[in-house]
Amino acid sequence: MIVMKFGGTSVESAQALERISGIVAGRLDRKPLVVVSAMGKTTDRLVAMARAIEVGDLAAALAELNKMADHHLREALPAAADERRAGLETFLKGTFEHMDKMLRVYPLGQRLSAAETDLLLSFGERLSSTIVAEAFYRCGFHAVGLDSRTAIKTDASHGAAQLLVDETAAALAEHVVPHMEHSVVVMGGFIASTVDGVTTTFGRGGSDYSAAIVGAALGAEEVQIWTDVDGVMTADPSLVADAHRLKIMSFGEASELAYFGARVLHPATMAPALEKNIPIRVLNSRRPENEGTLIVVEAPQNALVKSIAYKEGITIVDVRSTRMLMAHGYLARLFAAFERFKTSVDMVATSEVSVSLTVDRTDRLDEIIAELKGVADVERRDGNAIVCVVGDGIRYTPGVSAKIFSALDGILIEMVSVGASRRNISFVVDENDLEEVVRRLHKAFFSDVDKEVFA
Ligand code: ADP
Ligand code: ASP
Ligand code: MG
Repeated sequence: MIVMKFGGTSVESAQALERISGIVAGRLDRKPLVVVSAMGKTTDRLVAMARAIEVGDLAAALAELNKMADHHLREALPAAADERRAGLETFLKGTFEHMDKMLRVYPLGQRLSAAETDLLLSFGERLSSTIVAEAFYRCGFHAVGLDSRTAIKTDASHGAAQLLVDETAAALAEHVVPHMEHSVVVMGGFIASTVDGVTTTFGRGGSDYSAAIVGAALGAEEVQIWTDVDGVMTADPSLVADAHRLKIMSFGEASELAYFGARVLHPATMAPALEKNIPIRVLNSRRPENEGTLIVVEAPQNALVKSIAYKEGITIVDVRSTRMLMAHGYLARLFAAFERFKTSVDMVATSEVSVSLTVDRTDRLDEIIAELKGVADVERRDGNAIVCVVGDGIRYTPGVSAKIFSALDGILIEMVSVGASRRNISFVVDENDLEEVVRRLHKAFFSDVDKEVFA
């Protein structure tokens, strides 16, 4: 069997639903199980609803819900078979009425709990899995939409749930496998539940991870990630117009890229696939004939650098302390403050009396800084970006840094790090320099590419 995951743009409209129905219909002999994201920008809309409630603006939350309902009814109903359209309409309208009631009972002007947020966000994928199954039915094959919360089990870390492998395997065997005999199962990505049935999510972009989880648990031959670009590219194609498609890359490279911001794959996706040695293929649902990018354990080494990723919205925290001089335990205390306020650190650089580190979440940074103030001078610098050059070949080849830094002549580089995997070199620049930096690096590394690795 194979797992086919379709992202938000691949299921956003009646036309998109018809397109993916055709794609799945053409692959029924490979026994597909389908994982889908919420339609289009639905999850952004659900996040906006939560924010509106939190600032006490019920009208704004209800307006977002109306837009979501309009979009779903307009695009989903034409995708259903004539005789099933009324049933789907009843289901959709019932769901939106239920959501309307939910929004009205949250206390206005208060933060939603993480559990409440996960429950609200889950509606996107709960709806899309039902809708996609209807579109498949109309296309002429049996499909059943299943609520992933019965089949994927996690702990209760809302918003970043941790998978329970054995419980998930058992739940899939009980609730999903029996349907696979005669139907294409359609499951929502991103969402799951605790063993007690409390709704959880894997964090934004997490549907890719859901697909890999299901693929690994069911021993899939391949996990296909269908999206809106031709595959993994040498840089974000929305920033670099002449980016090349990678024909093949390693799990390690894909993980580094995803971790450093290349949105095309959720960073957790590669782990389950690597563990069971299941290849991942990234494909374009608008151009299904394109061969995409194959991600495998070992990729050819004849290209030094495979891709450039970036992450915006990075804050540098500079911590200076004369007490650090020769003192053991200082770094432990420093990181303990970040740990206490659940803020993860991406990059670290030290000198004799200072430590600089970067974070991409600043919601608790004030508390961290207040705590550190007792032992050090702390300064934050917002508006930075991490740029990361990735390739397994970096490990074996001297001079990559020299090539990077000569390409960036005249640009201020704030921090540099060469990861222990030695398959990436990353550095921090001002956000305003980001486009220029990525373009210059792309020119330096990808002007003349190896045809075995790049399209
Ligand atoms: P989906 O909704 O299908 O999950 P995403 O928006 O999450 O799609 O991911 C696809 C997007 O990732 C592309 O439209 C592209 O702009 C962005 N992207 C960033 N870096 C890369 C890269 N190196 N290769 C391909 N796409 C990338
Ligand atoms: N719908 C979720 C999101 O937008 C998960 C996903 O699409 O992967 O983050
Ligand atoms: Mg995505």
